[in-house]
Parts: sequence; C-alpha cells; structure tokens
Amino acid sequence: MHQLKCSSVAETGCNFVASGETKEKVVEIMMKHGGEKHADLMKATTPQAMQEAKQQMEKKMYSLLK
Ligand SMILES: [Zn+2]
Repeated sequence: MHQLKCSSVAETGCNFVASGETKEKVVEIMMKHGGEKHADLMKATTPQAMQEAKQQMEKKMYSLLK
C-alpha cells in the first residue's frame, strides 16, 4: 500500500491523500484529483507546456513514493 499527500506534491494546503496498491495507481489517483480540484495549478499556456508540467508532477510523485 502506497500513500501520497496532496500537500506534499504541491503547496495546496489540501488534506487529500491518495492511496493504492501500486505507485502507478497512487499517481493516477493524484493526477485525477489535481485535475478536478487544482485545475488552476495544472493549467498551462500550451498543450506542450501542459504535457511537460504533467510529466514533472508525475516524476515528483514517484520520487516521493520511493
Ligand atoms: Zn488536493
């Protein structure tokens, strides 16, 4: 079981905790949560910048899950 706090990933002050059997699942849940609750933080000017921001966020999540 892996767990990741929303406030550890970004300075959201949010209490949400994603948990799952695998790191992949936790990241998936957290990305979905971010898209729904923190869309302003995920927003980027271009689709490419958006993609890069997503990749950086996923990378950070995996490093926190180690
Ligand atoms: Zn959150």
